[in-house]
Parts: sequence; C-alpha cells; structure tokens
Amino acid sequence: MSHNEVHRSSRAGWLRAAVLGADDGLVSTAALLVGLVAAGAAKTALMTAGAAALTAGALSMAIGEYVSVSAQSDAEKADVKKEASELAQEPQQEHAELVAIYEARGLSRELATEVATALHAHDALGAHLRDELGHDERTRARPVQAASVSAVSFAVGSILPLLSVGLTPSSLRIAVLVFVTIVSMCVLGGFGAQLGGASALRGALRVGIGGCLALAITYGVGLALGATV
Ligand SMILES: [Zn+2]
Repeated sequence: MSHNEVHRSSRAGWLRAAVLGADDGLVSTAALLVGLVAAGAAKTALMTAGAAALTAGALSMAIGEYVSVSAQSDAEKADVKKEASELAQEPQQEHAELVAIYEARGLSRELATEVATALHAHDALGAHLRDELGHDERTRARPVQAASVSAVSFAVGSILPLLSVGLTPSSLRIAVLVFVTIVSMCVLGGFGAQLGGASALRGALRVGIGGCLALAITYGVGLALGATV
C-alpha cells in the first residue's frame, strides 16, 4: 500500500502535466473549430486554423513551461549554493540546525545528535537539502522535460478534434467533433482525477461539463459572427 503510494507520487508530476496539456490542446482546438464550423467555414479553412492552433498552442505551452520550471530550477540551484557555503563557513551551526530538525520530528536529543553527526560525516549537503529544504530527486525541476511533455501532450490533445473535422463530411462534422471532444475530455478528466487519488467519475464529469460550456460558448460566438461578419 505505502509502496504503491510512493510509486504513484514519483511519476504523478509529469503525468499530470501531460494530462493537463492534452486537455488544453483538446478543449482550445475543439472550441476554435466549433466556432469556425458555426460561422460556416469551409474544410480548408478549418484544417488550416486547426493546424495553426495546434502549432501555436504547443509552442506557447513549451515556452511557458520552460520559463516557469527554469525559474523553479534556478531557485533550487541557488538554495544548493547557499546551503553549501553555509556548511563551509558555519559547520557547527549547521549541525545544530539539523539536530533541531530531527528533534522536532520526534527524535530524542541524543539520537538527533547522533543522526546529524553521522549524516554530516556522510553527505552533509545532501542531508541539509533533503531535511531542511525538502529537496527531492523525484520532484526536482526539469525545464526541458517539462517543456517537451507539455508541447507533445498539447499536440496530441489537439489532433483529436482536428482529425474529427478532417475525416468527416460536412453534414456530420459538428456532431462528430462535439462527440469526440466530449468523450475525450471525460476520459482525460477521469484519468487526471484518478492520478491525483480523487474519484474518476467526478473528475470526468467536472471536465466534461466545463468542456461542454466552452464548446457552447464558442459555438454561440461563431454563430453570431458568422451571421454578422
Ligand atoms: Zn542547513
């Protein structure tokens, strides 16, 4: 049970980012296409706009994710530097700090001192990063990985509505597009909720309802613009 939980949390980070990215790609591209279909756009226009939405969205996700995760990574590196220099300059004080941390977690003073001394002899910096700052190899900020996961998952989500528009005759287009989008959204929402340990059904419904609203709104906007522009 506890082994399973550790395993789940170590992969949940990027997997959850992937689900969110796919969801973004799916909803934004589908909403755009629904709006264009409602405005009476031809297939060529739909495919061009959809492909542009996929590319622009994937790139913007990659850049946004890279910038934000890089900032996090810089902060982590600055922490490491600061901690290393404190250890070099004030080893005694740092040792006492670690003793206090273990005492606060429930060890006796003697045991806390013994543990801190042993860890200082083994890997002082590692012990401070882990137990004082909460750094963890499994959750370390990885900008390039985060950027590629977001871009690829956005593109994967985006391709579903694009294909439904490209592969269906115009009479069925809107129905197939809406159906494929809502089913995919519910699957993604359920999967995402389950990853976070929540109810898959509730996650599916929440995302499904949100997505339906997005589609309905852009359909309305498309109709209004198609009629007036
Ligand atoms: Zn420290």
